[in-house]
Formats: sequence, C-alpha cells, structure tokens
Amino acid sequence: MLKTMPATITNLSAREILDSRGMPTVEVTLETEHASYTASVPSGASVGSSEAHELRDGGERFGGKGVLKAVGNAEGEIAAALRGQTFDQKSLDARLRELDGTADKSRLGANALLGVSLAFARAAAGEAGMPLYAYFGALAGYEKFTLPQLCFNVLNGGKHADSGLAVQEFLLVPKAPSGAQQIELAAAVIAQLRTLLVEQGHSTSVGDEGGFAARLGTSEKALDMLVEAIARANAVGKVSIALDAAASDFYKDGSYMLDGGRTRTAPELAAWYEGLLEKYPLVSIEDPFNEDDWDSFAAFTARVGAHARVVGDDLLTTNPIRIEEAGQKGAVNTVLIKPNQIGTVSEALEASLLARSKGWALFASHRSGETTDTAIADFAAGLSCEYLKAGSLCRGERVCKYNRIMEIEAELAR
Ligand code: PEP
Ligand code: MG
Repeated sequence: MLKTMPATITNLSAREILDSRGMPTVEVTLETEHASYTASVPSGASVGSSEAHELRDGGERFGGKGVLKAVGNAEGEIAAALRGQTFDQKSLDARLRELDGTADKSRLGANALLGVSLAFARAAAGEAGMPLYAYFGALAGYEKFTLPQLCFNVLNGGKHADSGLAVQEFLLVPKAPSGAQQIELAAAVIAQLRTLLVEQGHSTSVGDEGGFAARLGTSEKALDMLVEAIARANAVGKVSIALDAAASDFYKDGSYMLDGGRTRTAPELAAWYEGLLEKYPLVSIEDPFNEDDWDSFAAFTARVGAHARVVGDDLLTTNPIRIEEAGQKGAVNTVLIKPNQIGTVSEALEASLLARSKGWALFASHRSGETTDTAIADFAAGLSCEYLKAGSLCRGERVCKYNRIMEIEAELAR
C-alpha cells in the first residue's frame, strides 16, 4: 500500500508571475530541509459564480488583475502560520481553510491557498520519494493508475476566442490504447483541420486554449469541419467529438443566444443538443445549460445520460455541496474537476471521490489561463480520472500537460 508521509515546512515564498494570457497569477515555493518545491495556479475566463474567490488587487496595475495581495498573504500570514510545522495534506489544507476563515476563501484568496496546497503536495510527494501522480493516488487510497482519455479542444469559441461561436469548446476524443497514440491521432486530425481552414479561406490563428479561432458562423459548421477533418485523417470511428457549451456565457434573461442569430429557450436548446447527438459522433456535452438551471440539467441527463456524458463545470464548481445536490437531482453523470474552483488539493480530492461514489465519471481540466505547471496531469493519472482536457496540441502551457501524460505513461510501463 502506497503511503504518504508528513512533511515539515521550513520556508514558504511566493511571487506574481504571468499566465498564458499575460495576466498575473500566483506561484509558490515551499521549502523543506531537503529541497524546495514550486507550484503555480491557473485562472479561468468562463468562471462559475460558485467558484472559490480568486483574490485580485484592483487598482491600476494589470487592469486591476494584479495578485500582490494574494502573494503577500502567502508570504506573510500563511507562511508565518506554517513555518517550522509538520503537516500531511489533510491537516495542511484544514489549516489553510481555518486561517482564511471564509466559505469562499475570499479573505486570503483561493489563488494563494491553492498555490500553497499544491506546492505542499509536490513537497510531500518529493519527501516520500513518490511521483506526484502516485502521491495524489495514495491520498485517495489508490495504488493502480489508469490514464485518462485525452480530449483536445481544437476549435475555440465563447469567452476563449472572438470566433463568434457560442459554444466554447469543440474537442476531439481520439480512441487509442495509449495516451501517446491518442495524441498522435489528434495531431493527424488537427493537421487536416488546419488544411481545411486554409482551403476555405479561414484564419488559422488560435484562441486561449490553442484551438483554432476561425469565424465559422455556426456550431453546426464547426462540427461539419471536424467531421470532414476526421474523415480526411482516415479516423472515422476512431475519433469522437465532445462539446463544452459553457452555456452560462450565452444565457441572458431566460434565453440562450446561439450563434447564427438564433435564440432558444431551455427546452429548445435541449432539443437542439439532442439533434446534434444524433447527427454527429458526439459523446459528451459540458455545461449545456445556465449554471443554476438544475431542472434542465436533470431533464437532459434523464433523456441522454445513458449514451452521452453530461458534464457539470460551472454547475458544480468542484464543490462537494453542489455535487451532493446534483446527485440528488440526477443533474449530470460526469463532474469536471478544476482544483482552483475549490482552492485546496484535499477538497478537489473530496469532490472527486464523492462524484465517484455516485457512479459518475471524473473529467480533470486545465483552465483557459494556464501556466506551465503540469500538476493537473498528475491529478488525472493519480485519481484514474476517466477524462482529461488540456487544450489543443498548441501553446506550451497546453502541450506540457500532454507531455507529462506521456512521461507518466512511460514510467508506468517500466
Ligand atoms: C472550461 O470552461 O471548462 C474552461 C476550461 O474554461 P475556463 O478556464 O475559462 O473556465
Ligand atoms: Mg467548462
């Protein structure tokens, strides 16, 4: 049985770094008597309103988005409370929550807390001589690791690009026995998609997650392009499609404003998704409705949940309380896990295990504002999450997660 060990914190420092959008975020370095360990925190653009609070400075620097207050909290109050103390992950995270004292981590900032929590995870893994994925697995009581199905966001819409597409993410889901082979298959389809875009006179510039940001007009056109690219890559039957609608971002006053100038009520939107599920090789839809529309989620999951993944992101915000509510209502069959939505490693773990106890699949996720920290790949591997999305095969902060998956895969094969 893999066992984690307590670790003693000798020092803690933090700094403001920039994420992939050039916006400030928090990086933390935690020292033990043997080594130092660093972690950094991602940041979302389509943020669920129940997410833990990301502390920003306000004022003029970086349009108010500076994180010097969060950095100061990590280096000041948090460091003073932790220095010289010995913790395991659970007691460290409990101490962080106690220090903050608010339900949404708004006093010290979820960005400060998660930076410390993740740096501690790296330290505790390092001190025990364990890879990070094995450490996350051990926290959950797992010893065997199944790598996730990789999902690649190759067309960007919503808040991640000015492509005019209402749906935020169009993802490739390539079926292959290994992560490395899934990546190879995705690369082949992406190459064909690029050629198709060029042929049709579209831009091949990319959005926040490295997917193309072409102005294709409608979601159906985007799906048609993917189907054509899959066919040209000789990958029909091998590559499916997933969507993240991120529907809260095109919901206004009771209506959904789709691309192509179309407006839909929730039942009409559900019927539209069902049509897409019939017509396209679509296997998963994330956030199909506004983040508080529990009833539409539940009705949709009852209708399509037996053959498609209905994924809760803004709906659930990696929050055990909302996951419990969703379980009672039958609102989804899959949970998106983003550790920064809840603010500590232990709570992300608790959310994951609670969802799994309900028979749901776990879908680990990066954020649209990322750093080159690859901990989410280790989390996905350690918890044997069924899925992981980390953007397209483009932009260093995206591909580093896929590279880490291949590294873990090679290590597990030894
Ligand atoms: C998402 O909505 O799933 C996502 C990764 O985007 P963001 O980080 O902007 O919330
Ligand atoms: Mg989402």
